[in-house]
Amino acid sequence: MSELEQNGGAARNPVKCRLCLGNVCDVGPLRQSHIIPRFIFLKSKSPKGRMIVHDGGADPAYQSQEDWKEPMLCASCEHRIKINFEDYLKDILYPRKKNSILVDGPDSIRIAAKADQLALSLLSIFWRAVVSTLPEFTWAVVPHYIEEGLRLWIFGNTIPANWQKLVLVKVVQIKADNDQVIAFLMRPFSRKKNDQTFDFVYICGGYCVVFTIPPPLNHTFHRSDALRPGSRIVRIRKVSYKMIPELKKAVDEMLKAGLRGSVSVE
Ligand SMILES: [Zn+2]
Repeated sequence: MSELEQNGGAARNPVKCRLCLGNVCDVGPLRQSHIIPRFIFLKSKSPKGRMIVHDGGADPAYQSQEDWKEPMLCASCEHRIKINFEDYLKDILYPRKKNSILVDGPDSIRIAAKADQLALSLLSIFWRAVVSTLPEFTWAVVPHYIEEGLRLWIFGNTIPANWQKLVLVKVVQIKADNDQVIAFLMRPFSRKKNDQTFDFVYICGGYCVVFTIPPPLNHTFHRSDALRPGSRIVRIRKVSYKMIPELKKAVDEMLKAGLRGSVSVE
């Protein structure tokens, strides 16, 4: 069997949980793990119940029912991810009770939240893209020491105090011209900022989340959209979709292509 066939076989039939590294003989069969948590995906459904997906490239947007999942985690790691991170994201990004919201202004929202836990929760999504074997996530490549560092943080549900030295995590909420949140789904993509630095961009469920690796040396958190390590208050700026070039291009193309009913930006 060629190396390619062997690798393909490993991808289709993995024998190890990607998070605890346990063998399926010991930890049981792997679950179909979602790369982007399903509850965030569902926020991006069109009125007809389909996702509008744009891959950020030259191809037009399309409607899809895909929800990017593959055998990745054992049952106990799947549960670990849910209770440590997905439930936290749900509470902070889509709060049912408004207790945690300190200020909801026209330009930003301030939430009582642990920036470190929010960063780690978002990084758990990024890490899933990094270890995914799906063709949609081939862009998510980081040096091995970063991949392994993220795995240990996520597995242990702990993040070092100086995590911003490894990665910057920026979150903004996306608004249409009428001030409504745009819950658009774009296929996650990367931007090369210079020879060494990449942005990994997720646009989904009303938010744009950007992971910058490695962070610029001179980064200052003041008035930046990046989560500040150690902070107990998270400020999320509200930005027009037009401020995100890839999103503006995708929305413009969709409106041209007649998918107007699927995305409302006016
Ligand atoms: Zn596991």
